[in-house]
Amino acid sequence: MLPYLRASWANAASLHGPGRAARAAIDQAREQVAALVDTHPSQIVFTAGGTEADNLAVKGLVAPRPGRRLLISTIEHPAVLESAQALVGRGWRVGWIPVDAGGRVRLDVLREQLSSGDVGLVAVMAANNETGAVQPVAEVAELARAAGALLHVDAVQMAGKLALRYADTGAHSLALSAHKLYGPKGVGALVLDKAVEFEALLHGGGHEHGLRAGTQNTAAIVGFGAAAALAAEQREQRRSQLASLRETLLAGLRSIPGITLFGGDAPCLPNTLQFALPGFEGESLLMALDKRGVAVSSGSACAAGSGEPSHVLMAMGVDASVARGAIRVSLGRDNSREEVENFLVILQELASGPSLARCNPSVLAGQ
Ligand code: PLP
Repeated sequence: MLPYLRASWANAASLHGPGRAARAAIDQAREQVAALVDTHPSQIVFTAGGTEADNLAVKGLVAPRPGRRLLISTIEHPAVLESAQALVGRGWRVGWIPVDAGGRVRLDVLREQLSSGDVGLVAVMAANNETGAVQPVAEVAELARAAGALLHVDAVQMAGKLALRYADTGAHSLALSAHKLYGPKGVGALVLDKAVEFEALLHGGGHEHGLRAGTQNTAAIVGFGAAAALAAEQREQRRSQLASLRETLLAGLRSIPGITLFGGDAPCLPNTLQFALPGFEGESLLMALDKRGVAVSSGSACAAGSGEPSHVLMAMGVDASVARGAIRVSLGRDNSREEVENFLVILQELASGPSLARCNPSVLAGQ
């Protein structure tokens, strides 16, 4: 990325030599990102991240299909959920695809909902960002296509971690984000079936085949390309290393009395795991772990007793009091076995100590 921040600063849309050089660098990145999902570079639309790719897909795919229904899984990232919600009241209606206790979409319900014949777009993510649960995307695509509906797949969490061929998903669009595969933040892509009628969100110059106007962020795109190439090259090695660390983590967590592990036996990402300790509020546990040098996420927006539990866990039928205790661990390629073992020791110590502050003590008091 550095040459494109320092010396080669020309606008990739310019016709002069430096501009053409920047354009060539973007073309190479387009090929690298396309290769990650085994598709043609012309199907890659660079965006400013996964959120923009999801917005572009949901709004861009439904715009030419007014009056039709959107079917969205209940565990989608807010980038998809809120994009769909934003269309309600502007002529579109939204229906929800529920998930089972393991966090996988209910194909039986999807089939039933599609039978109404008025569905324009289905959105189901490839893998969930909280539980890591991998979704049956190919089956969803088969059902959606048979009903004449388009399919958008948010593959932000899956890309780079598990094998992902665009053609195999059966989707009309796929959202990707660079920072989930060690690329820079603020850059992503929408993989788009160009045969489908589509409306751009941003209007201006004809950048990105007229689908995303705005001067391209050359350095970020080049970084995304390089990260995608490395992810493709090292995917299996990274996957097996992460899966083995996750197994160690899972075995250690299972030995903590009363722990709840979310996601059950559903197929999942090799790096993601979500759990709750009885009597602990997620964000307090997060802060206690942070003090001991461990960076994790909580599965809720709990703050000072007013937080909402994770919509993903609620969709899985988890009790709100348990969901408020959720902690999400994301392992990365730089984590070591010692770090995982150290984390388990710290967690055991915290679990056997006094309970930490709770979101809503009255809810948890009965546990
Ligand atoms: N979709 C999923 C599943 C995600 O996990 C994220 C980010 O956490 C996004 C979309 C949004 O991507 P970005 O942060 O690049 O906007």
